Amino acid sequence: MKNLRYLLGLVVLSTLTFPAMSAPKPLNVLATLHPLALIAASTVPLEQLEVLVPAGMTPHDFSLRPSDIDRLQNADIIFWAGPEAEPYLRGFAKRWPDKHWINLATYRQEGQSDDPHVWFSTAIALGAQADLAALLGHDNSEFAQSVAASVQFSEEQLQGLQQRGFFVFHRAYDHWVSERGLLQLGAFTLSPEQKPGIRTLQAMRDQLANGEVVCVFSEPEYTPALVDSVVGDLPVNRAELDPLGSHISVTKDGYARFLDDMAMRARACLEPREN
Ligand SMILES: [Zn+2]
Repeated sequence: MKNLRYLLGLVVLSTLTFPAMSAPKPLNVLATLHPLALIAASTVPLEQLEVLVPAGMTPHDFSLRPSDIDRLQNADIIFWAGPEAEPYLRGFAKRWPDKHWINLATYRQEGQSDDPHVWFSTAIALGAQADLAALLGHDNSEFAQSVAASVQFSEEQLQGLQQRGFFVFHRAYDHWVSERGLLQLGAFTLSPEQKPGIRTLQAMRDQLANGEVVCVFSEPEYTPALVDSVVGDLPVNRAELDPLGSHISVTKDGYARFLDDMAMRARACLEPREN
């Protein structure tokens, strides 16, 4: 009898507590940019992860469609790069304060560059990813290890090339350049919509002619015509860098592969040309 009452008690207890203990509704995560999805995918199951600005599109000329606003509304966590990088999201954080907004720009440390392409800072990526993982109740140590391994790989790739000067297409790589200790000598434009001035181009042309610059990077999203016209037939290496890593697929180790790929592309362009 005592046992039966005990069992009944257990049944009652379990039916009472079951709803609360059943698996909570999985949190939907919206990563606003492809490189942020590469970071988020380290801890968010792919079926819970969406990307706002599709791969191959740049945030510099993006504007929200009604379906994008629906996706924002359906998300529980928004993993974004802040209002400077993503002006189209200005105001939404205030509109939906109940959502978790993880703004990577807020992880910037004092003295760090104000370049809004914040995903190139592994320190920022690690900080934001740790908070995202914590919201989901996940462990973040695997991500931290994979980033540390990529940093080491990058250092090996770029060893001895830190003093080789280069130009980038637009000002997007400050965090990466400073973490890797590289010698970026200029950018054709601050932002891809702005055409560089004649004086800037002439100064860059002079630097190229002096042999200070051994490598010039263009970007897949923009036609290289401008770069072609400045470089002309000077003997410098040419390569492509994509600040959005659009060709890197969104998988658990995507961010580490993105960093590795940057280092390999940079090495190939910075190495002396074989004659
Ligand atoms: Zn950019």
